[in-house]
Amino acid sequence: MSIQAPRGTRDVLPSEAYKWNYVESLFREICEKFGYKEIRTPIFEHTELFHRGVGETTDIVQKEMYSFKDNGGREITLKPEGTAPVVRSFIENKLYAEPQPMKLFYITPCFRYERPQSGRLRAFHQFGVEAFGTSSPSVDAEVIGIAMAFYRKLGITNLELRINSVGCPECRNKYNEKLKEYLRGKLDKLCKTCQDRFDRNPMRIIDCKTDSCKEEIKDVPYMLDHICEECKTDFEGLKENLTLMEIAYTVDPTIVRGLDYYTKTAFEIVSREIGAQGTVCGGGRYDGLIGCLGGPATPGVGFGMGIERLLLTLQNNQIEIPKPSGLDIFIAAIGERPSKEAVRLLHKLRLEGISADKDHMNRSLKAQFKYADKQQAAYTVVIGDDELEKDIVQLKNMDSGNQEEIKLSNIIQELKNRLK
Ligand code: ATP
Ligand code: MG
Repeated sequence: MSIQAPRGTRDVLPSEAYKWNYVESLFREICEKFGYKEIRTPIFEHTELFHRGVGETTDIVQKEMYSFKDNGGREITLKPEGTAPVVRSFIENKLYAEPQPMKLFYITPCFRYERPQSGRLRAFHQFGVEAFGTSSPSVDAEVIGIAMAFYRKLGITNLELRINSVGCPECRNKYNEKLKEYLRGKLDKLCKTCQDRFDRNPMRIIDCKTDSCKEEIKDVPYMLDHICEECKTDFEGLKENLTLMEIAYTVDPTIVRGLDYYTKTAFEIVSREIGAQGTVCGGGRYDGLIGCLGGPATPGVGFGMGIERLLLTLQNNQIEIPKPSGLDIFIAAIGERPSKEAVRLLHKLRLEGISADKDHMNRSLKAQFKYADKQQAAYTVVIGDDELEKDIVQLKNMDSGNQEEIKLSNIIQELKNRLK
């Protein structure tokens, strides 16, 4: 049997790659307009980075990572997300010593051992941005603004932005006590995972998808109702900035993150059509993360956006991405001398920036025309012995069917004029 791609991975074939190119270029363009610069980090990192940077109690670290020992005995992990590597790089390369905020974006593959389904893969891709060095809520709004501008430019309009505040370590510690008080009596009715969360990460219980847990926590106290004055001011600041930017939002107190270094803003952008895997973008503030990874205390905010889920959303909204145009020129040649002339001319055209191709299969003239048609060539240049004799070529406009004689010595200029 032939070898198949591993479960949860997908090839991007040429028939689809143009869509990837399109969304990637658009994402780059928009980030740059917002003053964000691209950063690229390696596909793998020391495993410890994710233990500390994503958190021991998260699903990612507990069961989803692709970790292995390399031949030198190092513990290595394929990146399951983009933020921790960017923070590692920010610290290691002392980007905090440059003018702040340091505003970065990335396009990266990610790897998570999950149950594959529509919109959920083991090897997938993310767009992400991170802004370091300021705790101003105007940057939280700016980060959200990038995602919303991107969706808008793509023509995706029926998305819902949900925002919340998960507080800061100070108000959260007090809140956690209230939360645990509420949950303590119900502990034996919660699922096993939530029982484990109770001590280490109680806020995550609010995020549990189990029906029985959902039922138990119907009147759970929310962080948002217990945030301190500073967190409240920042949350109001975020809402004010979003309003100024004319970005609609709903406040959703059930969005949680639960790790100490996540602070204040948490948000999700949800598509209503793609069902269970409806979160197309998730992000928020992590003022404790850089310190936690050994850097100088520096605030940060960002998001991660799944590219496969983005493409699904486009598909579900019947949004077509412009197909790349076909070839400019196909050269059809018959005979030995004409074939040599085709090689010479073809390379010249390509050097001139004209997209061009010729037959490599020894096809008949008729078959070459058929192939040119399949390649959506705008023009076909026909070279035969008779033509060469007269120092001309036949030029056929593939759209109109019009055919004309062109002097071979003028061909490049003539083609350029027509392709304008
Ligand atoms: P989910 O709740 O769907 O598991 P998540 O909270 O794990 O999402 P994040 O870690 O915030 O997701 O990642 C950001 C984005 O990356 C998600 O909103 C989603 O679009 C995408 N994403 C996450 N996991 C996968 C996956 N296994 N396959 C494809 N896309 C994914
Ligand atoms: Mg997940």
